[in-house]
Amino acid sequence: MPALMLLVLTGLVVALAGPASVGQAAVAPSKYVQIAADPRMRSEIPRVAALVNEAVPQVAAIVGAIDLQPIPVRVYADRAAMLEGTGMPLRSGVVGLAVLPAGVIHLDGSERLAKVDKVVPHEVAHVLIARVLGGEGLAALPLWLSEGIAEYAAGTKASQVDPIWVRALSEGKSLRIAELDEAIGAHDDRAGLAYAEAASLVSFLVAKRGEGVIAELLRSIATTHDIEVSLSEVVGWSLDELEAAWRRETVREWRWPLLFESQAVWFTLMVLLFLAGLARYLRERRRRQESAEDDW
Ligand SMILES: [Zn+2]
Repeated sequence: MPALMLLVLTGLVVALAGPASVGQAAVAPSKYVQIAADPRMRSEIPRVAALVNEAVPQVAAIVGAIDLQPIPVRVYADRAAMLEGTGMPLRSGVVGLAVLPAGVIHLDGSERLAKVDKVVPHEVAHVLIARVLGGEGLAALPLWLSEGIAEYAAGTKASQVDPIWVRALSEGKSLRIAELDEAIGAHDDRAGLAYAEAASLVSFLVAKRGEGVIAELLRSIATTHDIEVSLSEVVGWSLDELEAAWRRETVREWRWPLLFESQAVWFTLMVLLFLAGLARYLRERRRRQESAEDDW
């Protein structure tokens, strides 16, 4: 059995899950999902089931998952119940998590699952990625790639224009790939930045090599258990080369929008306008003086 790893992320927890006996009542099996929900959340079951059923085939196509057995999903009435059910210390803002390798999704029902349509495809991706990779492959998957793929599979198309990332880039605060995994688990705003960058990196890979690159990479990591080797085999880049290419492209893409966001540029522009105006005024004054002399 893999060692007990407690990797608390937005939604991804690699751990040995205990039995999910949390006093849940309603159980609804359907094509791709088996839901156990707190009786108070019973009315939400059809919505959650529909989301999982919709997500599974879409995400499976992206990550190359073949095993489409129903995913167990547990819906809790509130945060305290989820904490008790999972035994996981949850970072604030985390409303869903996938416990791996068990492959069970846990959802916090506070606020009547307000973000569930974003959370479900993301967690489904974690479960299906784990099924593709198997235990050792999963252990070899960097967190940033796991989260980046989950975000991509969830259809977060806005990752490239995520304001957090754009601002960080303009302020020179972006994290290096080597720093992402640690930041993803951080309890401050670096986590948000790390997620945005992870999603941006995966979108970049897809833009360069097509969507099939995700399934190919995962299939390769399942065998090599080594991201460097797999990246080089599938994409032809080392991690450093990926980072450099991604940074170059992202900077190029954002050069103009960022330029106009920058206060320094506006200040420079105003100084230039002032100088141009001054030069014109001086020129005009000299011309008037000269013509006055002519008149004389
Ligand atoms: Zn996640």
